[in-house]
Amino acid sequence: MMQVHGIAAFDDNYIWAIQGENGKVAIVDPGDADPVLSYLQETGQQAVAILITHKHYDHVGGIADLKENYPDAVVYGPAGEPIQGLDYRLKAGDKVIIPGLQFRPEIMEVPGHTEGHIAYFGDGALFCGDTLFACGCGRVFSGTMAQLHRSLDKISELPGETLVYCAHEYTLDNIGFAKWVEPDNADLIQREDQVRAARQQQLPTVPSTLDLELRTNPFLRAHVQRVINAAEHYAGHSLDTDEAVFTVLRQWKDRDYD
Ligand code: ZN
Ligand code: FE
Repeated sequence: MMQVHGIAAFDDNYIWAIQGENGKVAIVDPGDADPVLSYLQETGQQAVAILITHKHYDHVGGIADLKENYPDAVVYGPAGEPIQGLDYRLKAGDKVIIPGLQFRPEIMEVPGHTEGHIAYFGDGALFCGDTLFACGCGRVFSGTMAQLHRSLDKISELPGETLVYCAHEYTLDNIGFAKWVEPDNADLIQREDQVRAARQQQLPTVPSTLDLELRTNPFLRAHVQRVINAAEHYAGHSLDTDEAVFTVLRQWKDRDYD
């Protein structure tokens, strides 16, 4: 199993460092170069690749500085977004092969948070940027609700044991909203206890597993009767499709919770 190290950045970002052979590392979403450079220098590793999920500054801001320090690092990112400094622009189904790395991710297009967001899936791990969060999902900025719903559906079909490496430590806050939707979900209540304990010790709550997300994350549960009931109650009318339920959940969180 490959080793992945989380580098904390800004207030609540995780920049993921995927370890390969002989100190070779791929860096996912380096919003800030400084903590990445410190980590690489302290551990005697070099960046050989940079994997970008989407265009937001807290995911791309460190590309130029990292390139300056590691000129041979190859920069991968989405074909559908305006990002400077990409060597390869990736589309659904593309496979990324990085010399020295066992991780050979396949590209998934997961628009919604942004219009061209991609995720990297391989070796039992999903690097999904701001699409799926632990017990939540990204806001809809430059994509659409329908896109984000479809993207999360696609992710839901991956194996349950998939490790979900999202880009922010939002879990405890997200659980608060999830409990508005499903106050009686026993898996969710148990998850809250575990997440609270981890955060008290300043431990990360990411990665999670897809299976845990399917049991506790309301945004992957728009087909579950309890979730449908809660969304219909909030909306004040019946909701005929999973997409309509998902959209109401996202609007509910945006308007009343965040
Ligand atoms: Zn973002
Ligand atoms: Fe972000």
